[in-house]
Amino acid sequence: MIRRDARSEALAQLAWQLEAGADEAIAEAPVDRYAAGRVPAPAAAPAEAPSRTAAPLLTAGDAAATAREAAAAAADLPALRAALERFEGCALKSTATNLVFGDGNPAAPLMLIGEAPGRDEDREGLPFVGVSGRMLDVMLGHIGFDRTSAYITNILFWRPPGNRQPTSPEIAACLPFVERHIELVAPRVLVLLGGASAKTLLARAEGITKLRGRWFDYQSATMVAPIACLATFHPAYLLRQPAHKRYAWRDFLSAKAKINELS
Ligand code: URA
Repeated sequence: MIRRDARSEALAQLAWQLEAGADEAIAEAPVDRYAAGRVPAPAAAPAEAPSRTAAPLLTAGDAAATAREAAAAAADLPALRAALERFEGCALKSTATNLVFGDGNPAAPLMLIGEAPGRDEDREGLPFVGVSGRMLDVMLGHIGFDRTSAYITNILFWRPPGNRQPTSPEIAACLPFVERHIELVAPRVLVLLGGASAKTLLARAEGITKLRGRWFDYQSATMVAPIACLATFHPAYLLRQPAHKRYAWRDFLSAKAKINELS
C-alpha cells in the first residue's frame, strides 16, 4: 500500500503531467525522446553564461518566413507534407506523436478545415478520427459526401498538449502551409469548422456565431482566383450543444448547393 504522503506526491506528479499535456499512457515503458533524437536536446549552457534556458526553436518572425518559403516551394501535396516534416518553426512538433497532414480525396470539390488534432488524431496521424470525426462523418453523410468525395485538414498540423487552445504564434507558423494546402487542393468550396479556423482564414475578428452561414471569398496572396468559403460550427461544439446542429445542417446543405451550382 502506498503511504499517504507518497500517494499525494504521486498524485501531484500526475497532476503536473496532465497540466503539461501528458494525458495518456501510450506505452508500457517511458520513451526518452531526447535519446531517440526526436526532440533536439536543450542546448548546454555556455561555461561563461550560467543561463539554464534551452535555445529557442526560431523566433516567430523567422518561423513565419521559413514557413512561407518552404510552403511556396512545395509543388504538390507530398512535397508540402515533406516540407512540414522538415519544418522546425512550430514547438508543437516536439510534443506531438505524429504530424497530422490531411485525409480524404485531394481531388474532391469540398475541403474542410478544422482546428487542431486531438489525442486520437495525434496517435493515428489523421485528422478527425475521434468523436468529433465521427460527428463530422455523419454530417458529411447527410449531404451525400464522405472521405472519398471530401478532403479534410486543420489549421495546425500537430496536437497542442492537453488539447489546449492554439496560440497565435503556433497558428502563424502553420498558416503559410495551410494556405499552400488550400491552393494545391484547389477545392470548389471550402468549409471552415469552428471559430479558430474561420477567424484565421477569413482574417475576421467576429466569433463563429456571427461568421457561420455566410459565404465569403477566400483568397490568399498567391492565389489567382478566390474560393467560395463558408464557416460553420465545429463538430466538437455540436456534441456539446446539440440544439445548434440545425444551423450546421443548414450550412452543410448550403455548401452542397454551392458545389452543385459551381459544377
Ligand atoms: N478537432 C479538430 O479540429 N481537428 C481534428 O482533427 C480533430 C478534432
